[in-house]
Amino acid sequence: MSRNLPSFGKSLFFGDLREELIFPFPRLSRDEQARTSKLVGELAEFARQQVDSNAIDRDERIPEPVLAGMRRLGLFGLNIPTAYGGLGLGAGATCRLFDALGEIDGSLAVTVGTHTALSARALTTFGSDDQKRRYLPKLASGETLASFAVTEPLAGSDAASIRMRAEPQEGHGFLLNGSKSWVSNGGLAGLHVLFAQTHVARAAGDVDRISGLLIDQGPGGIVGSERRKLGVRGSSTTALYIEEVRASGSQLLGGLGGGFKVLMETINFGRLSFAAVCLGTARTLLRLAVQHATSRHQFGRLLSTLGMIKEKCASMAVDLYAAESVVYLTAGLIDSNSHGRSVDTTLETACSKVLASEMLWRAATEASQIAAGCGYANDYPYERLLRDARLYSVYPGGTNEVLRCYIALNGLAGPGEQLARLADAIKFPLRGYGLVVETLVDKVRNAAYGRAILARHHPRLKREAVLIEDTIESLTREVDRVLRRHGRFIAEMQYVQRRVANVVIDLYAMCASVSRASAALYQKDARGDHAMPEAGGELDRAERELRLCVGFCSRASGRITETLARFTQNDDELMKSIADDCYIGRPYPFDAVL
Ligand SMILES: Cc1cc2nc3c(=O)[nH]c(=O)nc-3n(C[C@H](O)[C@H](O)[C@H](O)COP(=O)(O)OP(=O)(O)OC[C@H]3O[C@@H](n4cnc5c(N)ncnc54)[C@H](O)[C@@H]3O)c2cc1C
Repeated sequence: MSRNLPSFGKSLFFGDLREELIFPFPRLSRDEQARTSKLVGELAEFARQQVDSNAIDRDERIPEPVLAGMRRLGLFGLNIPTAYGGLGLGAGATCRLFDALGEIDGSLAVTVGTHTALSARALTTFGSDDQKRRYLPKLASGETLASFAVTEPLAGSDAASIRMRAEPQEGHGFLLNGSKSWVSNGGLAGLHVLFAQTHVARAAGDVDRISGLLIDQGPGGIVGSERRKLGVRGSSTTALYIEEVRASGSQLLGGLGGGFKVLMETINFGRLSFAAVCLGTARTLLRLAVQHATSRHQFGRLLSTLGMIKEKCASMAVDLYAAESVVYLTAGLIDSNSHGRSVDTTLETACSKVLASEMLWRAATEASQIAAGCGYANDYPYERLLRDARLYSVYPGGTNEVLRCYIALNGLAGPGEQLARLADAIKFPLRGYGLVVETLVDKVRNAAYGRAILARHHPRLKREAVLIEDTIESLTREVDRVLRRHGRFIAEMQYVQRRVANVVIDLYAMCASVSRASAALYQKDARGDHAMPEAGGELDRAERELRLCVGFCSRASGRITETLARFTQNDDELMKSIADDCYIGRPYPFDAVL
């Protein structure tokens, strides 16, 4: 029996700091570490020998020998249980492999990510024994690739509004009609995990509910041509047109009307996996930036000695450290769920995706800027990486705008058992949230604000611990204030939601970084290693981690202070009017000269 524990992130909204969930920083078991390290090494070697990212980008396809190599390495079965022929890796190890894929090639990462983190994950979690036996071995070997098709021409972020229908047929399962507009792996997939509206009988009459369906490639389903894209060009992306396709009841995934749950729980893991991809790509960019800065001279000196270039490299490293800490802490929370406890991680995976995708975008622009002209040329990797990086704030699991709403509204909805009652409002945050806010206002207002105390950090991170405690206190005060001030209208207050989400994302990243750097410092203490490096020498790992953590916390707390001030002093109304002017008149009717 697992015990349901409140989420770390959601608890922050009530001023609780559940440090037992984040300390000590999670580590893979010795066995999993050895397996993961071997796999990462084999993957790197395979990439060196066989993966030509420029060719993949230019030809807009992954060559068959590369796909074959990926199958041999077991990449298509990363997280599929060993009983079905997969590698059976946990979340931390799976993320480390996605991280490695991101370091190698975005197209490979999107292909494997969609197949394993979305489609196979959905089947593993929600499939019946028969469905698992039938599909998982082929998915694990990569003999069959899978897609995960939700988005339609008229239903993007608002996934609940999909129009594809699966109409029940007397005694013959369902008849499917409709189309999907963005299907990763569409041109390669032998199995589509797709979502459609179905009639579900209720005492008060039939209602439409989303159901998940497993559709083998077959007559009636037409895969559109490959979409030409900005980035990850080697990954297959097509539309899917379904006309009069019959499906039996045994093809339902997660039961009749259970599709929204399948979708939500699956994309939770998808968000984290693709956040891990961002880490690897950012690491590649930092390596390229440092190589360039430490080898090119201008004005008689190396670029790397210039303050503005140092600032860029340091920011990339600091932000990468924080995003990495967040991703692997969240993966650890998911892995700990298999050890008899059940911690909700929806808010943390959403934070991971926003933080990592935006970190990667900054890294791509900064690395490109350091390379300057070379950064703009297509015989260097920067422009491809910049194009690839654009994807992750859109796909998968919601755009970063929608994820910010999700983080804020989920957090504001309160922890623990209240989530069950608020589930509907959370699923449709922009429609139903106002109904529940008023009941929460009293609870939040009356909560006894005992100051959250962080105790398990390393003593050398005392200042950062205080910054975290201060931020939690301010966040709780602000949550109380905005709920009292805006009440049910908070659901429409996106400027406020964005601020709440930004504070929480930075706060979670500070907590994750302090936990991780503390672990490194405690390990160093345990080794009895107190030596400081000589001037100019390389710092040991723990000291470097300390610097990165302190650097991130200092910047994050600066951003948080600014954001908190803007809760009360801002130009929101002015900005809304300016946007309305653009909508109502010509978007920009001015010409400064004529
Ligand atoms: C390369 C690629 C591969 C993809 N693969 C798949 C796939 O395999 N399966 C699949 O189902 N989908 C896939 N997608 C689709 C992707 O999931 C959608 O693009 C994404 O969900 C956004 O939907 P949309 O493009 O219709 O944008 P829209 O929903 O129309 O959003 C447009 C803009 O409005 C903003 N916005 C929308 N709603 C809100 C809100 N409530 N509050 C604030 N801002 C809002 C968005 O953030 C965005 O900036 C893929 C997309 C790409 C680019």
